[in-house]
Amino acid sequence: MKNLCLLGATGSIGTQVLEIIREKNIYNLKSISFGKNIKLGKKIIEEFQPEYVSVLSEADMVNLQNEYPKIKFGCGEDSLITAATYAPGTLVNALVGMVGVKPTIAAIKKGMRILLANKETLVVAGDIINRLLQEHETELIPIDSEHSALFQCLQSGSKKEVNRLIITASGGAFRDRTRSELKDVSVVEALRHPNWEMGPKITVDSATMVNKGLEVIEAHYLFEIDYERIETIIHPESIIHGMVEYNDKSIIAQLSLPDMRLPIQYALMYPQKLSNPKFRSLDLAELSTLTFKKMDFERFPALGMAYQAGKAGGLMPAVFNAANEVAVSLFLKGKIKFLEIEDIIEEALESFENQANPTLEEILAADSKVRTCILEKYEVK
Ligand code: NDP
Ligand code: MG
Repeated sequence: MKNLCLLGATGSIGTQVLEIIREKNIYNLKSISFGKNIKLGKKIIEEFQPEYVSVLSEADMVNLQNEYPKIKFGCGEDSLITAATYAPGTLVNALVGMVGVKPTIAAIKKGMRILLANKETLVVAGDIINRLLQEHETELIPIDSEHSALFQCLQSGSKKEVNRLIITASGGAFRDRTRSELKDVSVVEALRHPNWEMGPKITVDSATMVNKGLEVIEAHYLFEIDYERIETIIHPESIIHGMVEYNDKSIIAQLSLPDMRLPIQYALMYPQKLSNPKFRSLDLAELSTLTFKKMDFERFPALGMAYQAGKAGGLMPAVFNAANEVAVSLFLKGKIKFLEIEDIIEEALESFENQANPTLEEILAADSKVRTCILEKYEVK
């Protein structure tokens, strides 16, 4: 049995990770973290009996400690690091947002293998993470479906034979609406993704196309390829998840039904591609057509902003990410309108002064400055 530490156990990705480890039975779940979903957290504790559990609030920690005296509990950011590095082996980071950065870095420094769903980690600190992965001679395997697809397609040739990466996008909840039809969309509508059931933040990110923007930056760092050679294309069916075009212009694509358990299992079992009774075969004849549309940067301006932030490098990917995280949480609380998410990101990118080769401390400081500026302006509205 191999050791596994899992951050974000109660989330959409976290629960699917648990489903796979229950099925495959090669991992021993040593530590977990969850936030506020205590009811589900307790079920997980009782089934998997982890040795260490990190939760958000002190009150929850105290109550849980009384209920489960044999398990160690912690709370707050430091305890996320303890949970991430509790036992040597593999970390699955399925946290949402910037909070995932420090635990990932701490685990790499311990030489752990990283299976990464938390894309924000690579977006804000991609250079630092790549450097640390080399220094500590360990690997990071993507869980995000597009990156898992690209990772698999890239095994058909060598790095210098790659011409471009193509990332597909379903178009999210509002793909058939014009910009003027987006003015008054509600939170409930934004949370209705046509193909995937995911956590609220990434579902909103899919509707704004910010998710694709984060994925472009994530791909840049994961596969060390320049932005000019990372393309996105609308593919409403979400059957092709990623494609790699080689220099001879042949394209290798990865196809499967939209089911996150597949990239999760691949990462957990890598390099094996194992059968799973719950996975369904793709019936192409039944599907009959796959459709594609050129990405529309006017309809989805946030994607252009992500490319702009990515190409600028330095602090700008962190600024893009922080502005988006705050804007999405304000939208989910009903404090701003849907289209204001883009306005907030644009304003942050325009007003923030960039800096090359920032340290982690400088990235964290930029992140918190952007958040404070936006909250001061919008939370009083
Ligand atoms: P969810 O919102 O469903 O889950 C997030 C998890 O993190 C929950 O366990 C939550 O705890 C915990 N959490 C949230 N905020 C904090 C915090 N401040 N401190 C500690 N724990 C916290 O998210 P998803 O599973 O959808 O997404 C996770 C990551 O994976 C994201 O980065 C997303 O972009 C990426 N991803 C997700 C996909 C999907 O299909 N869902 C697909 C590809 C990538 P609790 O609920 O108990 O409060
Ligand atoms: Mg994705």
